Amino acid sequence: MKQLSYALLASIIFMSCNQNKEQETTVEDKAAVEEMENFEWETEQFADIRMLRYRIDGWEKLSLKQKELVYYLTQAGLAGRDIVWDQYYRHNLEIRRALETIVKGYEGDSESEEWKKFMVYVKRVWFSNGIHHHYSNLKLKPEFSQDYFTKLLAKTGAQLSPEAKAVIFNDKDGKKVSKDADTDLLLASAINFYDPDITQAEAEEFYKKMIDSDDPRPISYGLNSKLVRDEKGEIKEVKWTETGMYGSAIAEIIKWLEKAKGVSENKAQGEALGLLIEYYRTGDLKKWDEYNIAWVKATEGDIDYINSFIEVYDDPLGYKATYETVVQIKDFDASEKMKVISDNIQYFEDKSPIMNEHKKAKVTGVTYKMVAVAGEAGATTPATPIGVNLPNANWIRTEHGSKSVSLANIENAYEHAKGGGFLEEFTFTKEELERSKKYAEISGKMHTALHEVVGHASGKLNPGIGTPKETLKNYASTLEEGRADLVALYYIMDPKLIELGLIDTMAVGMAEYDNYIRNGMMLQLRRLNMGEQVEEDHMRNRQLVAAWAYEMGKADNVIERKNLDGKTYFVVNDYKKLRAIFGKQLREIQRIKSEGDYEAGKLLVETYGVKVDPKLHQEVLDRAAKLNIPPYSGFVQPVLRPVMSGDTLKDIEVMYPTDFTQQMLMYGEQHSFLK
Ligand code: ZN
Repeated sequence: MKQLSYALLASIIFMSCNQNKEQETTVEDKAAVEEMENFEWETEQFADIRMLRYRIDGWEKLSLKQKELVYYLTQAGLAGRDIVWDQYYRHNLEIRRALETIVKGYEGDSESEEWKKFMVYVKRVWFSNGIHHHYSNLKLKPEFSQDYFTKLLAKTGAQLSPEAKAVIFNDKDGKKVSKDADTDLLLASAINFYDPDITQAEAEEFYKKMIDSDDPRPISYGLNSKLVRDEKGEIKEVKWTETGMYGSAIAEIIKWLEKAKGVSENKAQGEALGLLIEYYRTGDLKKWDEYNIAWVKATEGDIDYINSFIEVYDDPLGYKATYETVVQIKDFDASEKMKVISDNIQYFEDKSPIMNEHKKAKVTGVTYKMVAVAGEAGATTPATPIGVNLPNANWIRTEHGSKSVSLANIENAYEHAKGGGFLEEFTFTKEELERSKKYAEISGKMHTALHEVVGHASGKLNPGIGTPKETLKNYASTLEEGRADLVALYYIMDPKLIELGLIDTMAVGMAEYDNYIRNGMMLQLRRLNMGEQVEEDHMRNRQLVAAWAYEMGKADNVIERKNLDGKTYFVVNDYKKLRAIFGKQLREIQRIKSEGDYEAGKLLVETYGVKVDPKLHQEVLDRAAKLNIPPYSGFVQPVLRPVMSGDTLKDIEVMYPTDFTQQMLMYGEQHSFLK
């Protein structure tokens, strides 16, 4: 009963209709609630970052064998942690090790200004898994001098090559991932998926030759390899496998996955783990597809996981995937309620405003779950997603379905840690403010659920059209996220949601519209420095959808730009008309995806999604600065500790450390498997 409290509480608030089961509050419940109230959600702030903590809801309800499974899966995840560092930039690991040696060996004044500046830099590097900002992709600028750094190296005996040392301070490799269409995307990106001198044209040519675009079930070309130039000057792939690149870390991942397989909850789950191990051993991308199909079908257990080279956002060409892990425990109660959406998915497809020829006659098996995260590693931490929908291969999604999860305990942690003031500052009327406050949580969750379950599953490609990665290239992710958002926006204003018992008032949809426009038109700009353009895919899609809607509704004043006392506001005047506009946008973006219309996609993103009005940007930064809330958050991970009695495992305990620095040093010592 003890751990049940918050997840249950949240889902009851979330439902907000009259389904609340009358529950007597027991003494135990009260103790649990109080424990939650004393839980330290936020531990520290530095630069533009807040460090938070989350709780593993539901842990106490697991059997010992299930706890063991979770433990092995989190260990497997951590075993690959170094990989993402190396993927992000070829000097990252060497730099991290030097920084950690300094932190551990420093005996000077920890209150001196230069040391404090040095520590801020180190924490920023830890947070970004490298020396480029996790979100803007720009190289982090140290605020201490090179002389000071040289002294620290000497005093602590830390080793660093001259080249790696120089890049901390110079302008070389200034951007991790460039999506600027006017540059050579590979030469302009520091990412370590391609040898530094390989050009975009060479890589595109390489994959053009390899890809069979008539194959209705294509493998994920290039997903698990680095492209290098050999001695003869020829370009080839070096695969990430047990015996190939990253082999020492992958061997360790396999070791833990084998243990996990030994305690799997059921046959399907065990078989999927077996296929994942084989894939890690061989690097065979056909095996990867087999694994994904098996993983999608393994829906019975209470434990699930993501582990491998998954998302391709960090490759400007969209082939190569970063390493990541999320280990999850099902949130039974909430999942049951959200199942309503997936049970009705065909309704949403049939009523969609997209063209009939782009609709799926039968939408297959999207399983949606609310889960509690039990551990993350690689690209998913310290900054984390709040929802995940996999696998990524379009044909597997079409033929076998996909799994979609909302990371409920992460969202709860954000709710708890949320600083006040933003809504007061950026809403125009009292009515808007109150509605936003009242419905923020439910509208956010509804949006996530609709985006993940209905959005990404909806629509189909025209026959003979390549995957969006091939046709829409560097705009594929932005357009796909925009498309999924538009599905969510369109349906969050559908009275059907009330009929299904998911919400009890259309004010939920209105709150979501206000929020989406406010964020997409201005609020998210607080995440950028002056002079920067919008780069990140999700930010691009939000601005694209909002700014394009503003433009489309101008004649009818659907969204109005207001100015009061020198402050700008975007106010929705007509929610019905805005819904119709979202429907039109959805129809067009689905057409672009279905037909692979690169030029139209490019024009939309470049016109609405990228450019920043410097005057408005400065205003947002000024207004946000007064509120003093860092724009980015990430998490200190819980630690799972086996409790042994002799050789027998008695239990696995959860601990919630508070110290980010200690955790990073511990990871560096215990979970580092690359040279
Ligand atoms: Zn998405």
